[in-house]
Amino acid sequence: MELEKLSLVVPCYNEEQTIPLFFAAVEKIRPILANISIEYIFVNDGSKDQTLTVLREMALKYPDAIRYLSFSRNFGKEAALFAGLEHATGEYIAVMDVDLQDPPELLPQMLHLIRQEKYDCVGTRRVSRKGEPAIRSFLAKEFYRLMNRISAVEFVDGARDYRLMTRQMVEAILSMTEVNRFSKGIFSWVGFDTTYLEYENKERAAGKTSWSLWSLFKYSLDAIVDFSDIPLAIASFVGLFSFLISLFFMIVIVIRTVLFDDPTAGWPSLVTIILAIGGLQLFCLGIVGKYLGKTYLESKKRPIYILKETDSDKKKD
Ligand code: UDP
Ligand code: MG
Repeated sequence: MELEKLSLVVPCYNEEQTIPLFFAAVEKIRPILANISIEYIFVNDGSKDQTLTVLREMALKYPDAIRYLSFSRNFGKEAALFAGLEHATGEYIAVMDVDLQDPPELLPQMLHLIRQEKYDCVGTRRVSRKGEPAIRSFLAKEFYRLMNRISAVEFVDGARDYRLMTRQMVEAILSMTEVNRFSKGIFSWVGFDTTYLEYENKERAAGKTSWSLWSLFKYSLDAIVDFSDIPLAIASFVGLFSFLISLFFMIVIVIRTVLFDDPTAGWPSLVTIILAIGGLQLFCLGIVGKYLGKTYLESKKRPIYILKETDSDKKKD
């Protein structure tokens, strides 16, 4: 009987130190993963360090297990995940970070839940965020609360990208070819039976995170635009609201002038109103612009990533 295959999709950006640690950690639990072969798909996302060299060497050493894809530049983790999923050939496919914040020890249990309990997807959730700055945890929590309110898809607090999926679910994800990819939303949008394993937060094995607070903020704005159109509704609501207020005051002013002969005094009130309305207009225009920008990028249909080298090129020469 042919063995079933588990593909591990691993995006790597400047991870020369962590890749060997990751490989060792997965190999350590390999004996527990009975009746399955493992395929590693490392995606080098335009790293500036020796990540590609490390991957080349490892692919030469373990040609049956290790495959790699290397991008022409940094396209971001979402693009790397997409590329990895496209190239994975296993019946079961896991996506995991290379920094060991996604503990490989959970894999046997995840596999059990999919194979025996017939889930389509097993995700993971951090129940604590220890080792992370408090402000970051707080903002993350508020972000999830907000997203759940303004978006139709469910966002699980603390859910990581680390998950094991069936091929069927991966095909569904690949059928979403949008350029602006917010994986957490996409995983949830495609549906399927998903269960979550919980674990304590782990710190990076080595190297450092490539996320600053600012980049996280931009990421969350993108997520909102990608998975909700509520901000557009806010724009029309703000417009309607300020129109109603102005209508009310117009009536008040007319009545005061006509009945009480008490006209409202000059320009301070006028200037305040002009500034307020101007500000609101720009704010709403900004929201519309954000959506328009996304539409513009999608309409160009640019590829999600560009490959420069893969392990199969190397095998040919
Ligand atoms: N990563 C990537 N491209 C990027 C940034 C990150 O492929 O532009 C990878 C990175 O190598 C790691 C994973 O995405 O495997 C998560 O990154 P990181 O650990 O920096 O994020 P954090 O765990 O702090 O959220
Ligand atoms: Mg990490």
